Amino acid sequence: IRASASPRRPPGSAEGAGLSVLVTGAAGFVGTHCSLALRKRGDGVLGLDNFNSYYDPSLKKARRALLGSHGVFVVEGDINDGRLLAKLFDVVPFTHVLHLAAQAGVRYAMENPASYVHSNIAGLVSLLEACKDADPQPAVVWASSSSVYGLNDRVPFSEAHRTDRPASLYAATKKAGEEITHTYNHIYGLSVTGLRFFTVYGPWGRPDMAYFSFTRNILQGKPITVYRGRDRVDLARDFTYIDDIVRGCLASLDTAGRSTGTGGKKRGPAPYRIFNLGNTSPVTVPTLVSILERYLRVKAKKNVVEMPGNGDVPYTHANISLAREQLGYKPTTSLEMGLKKFVRWYLSYYGYNRGTHTFRNS
Ligand code: NAD
Repeated sequence: IRASASPRRPPGSAEGAGLSVLVTGAAGFVGTHCSLALRKRGDGVLGLDNFNSYYDPSLKKARRALLGSHGVFVVEGDINDGRLLAKLFDVVPFTHVLHLAAQAGVRYAMENPASYVHSNIAGLVSLLEACKDADPQPAVVWASSSSVYGLNDRVPFSEAHRTDRPASLYAATKKAGEEITHTYNHIYGLSVTGLRFFTVYGPWGRPDMAYFSFTRNILQGKPITVYRGRDRVDLARDFTYIDDIVRGCLASLDTAGRSTGTGGKKRGPAPYRIFNLGNTSPVTVPTLVSILERYLRVKAKKNVVEMPGNGDVPYTHANISLAREQLGYKPTTSLEMGLKKFVRWYLSYYGYNRGTHTFRNS
């Protein structure tokens, strides 16, 4: 642990921003990319992940191997394990926690609601308890979600819009997370930054997300289900490329400001911030499918059905003025460009053979 999360270096040093970061959910999609980017610029990184089986555990193991080859060690453990967290904070004086561990996915909440309470509520509280007791207290940057805008129909969504009408249990737990983190900021002086990610996609992505499962099904000649809103309106998402999200996460860590407490006691006010991290250009799902068809050179078999009311919202669109102003956040990757990189990764990772439609790894 000491070796992989190197001691603090002075801010702005040539070797990086001098951070020592605990990344929870490090074997996840966003966690892998952020950990690699932090390591690349010379910051100390230690990962934590429970390697749950919500989706293909072999993909998480492959990400862990990739991280290991870049000198990032991932501890296998659960954020609900307070003793483990206390030990980690005891050994490493983390300056920051990048909290990405969560039960993600909107529809799965109807199958397994308890997993959302376990990771997104109880797990969050357990992590914040460890952070507030740590000396020094780290600054916390964590993943909320665009889903908190729920049934809000004012677009583009800005941070000041109402978030009191979640459309899924997942969204409700992220909204609760924003309120829980605010409490720890208020009572214990924890510096908190909540990031509302908008539909993140890219290489090493999540197999449960539409762009990924569509790619798999199109290549295997299986049908894909495309939801359409009521009144036959196409669903649209503000798809945001992973590298843009990573830049937003690192800028949030760099500007987080200090926590003001020690050993569970607040010494003064600490920053509490919330930012949208999106792409500001929503694309409809049929357009997403046609881009994939072009890159894969296979026509999709589409089943178009009305959205069944299972937690999805019809439209997301981020207003990113606040992040642009305070973080210098500026997404640069179009969906066309990002999907090209995703498809290239997908074909090389799964070893797709164009002639026989067989896969090495799926
Ligand atoms: P992911 O599922 O790939 O990563 C989450 C990781 O956390 C997984 O590796 C999982 O094993 C781990 N984990 C879950 N519960 C845990 C627990 N109790 N203890 C320890 N580890 C645990 O998801 P992702 O797409 O990388 O998302 C990262 C974060 O961003 C999540 O908080 C998610 O809710 C949020 N988010 C993601 C998106 C997106 O489009 N990918 C959009 C909005 C918000």
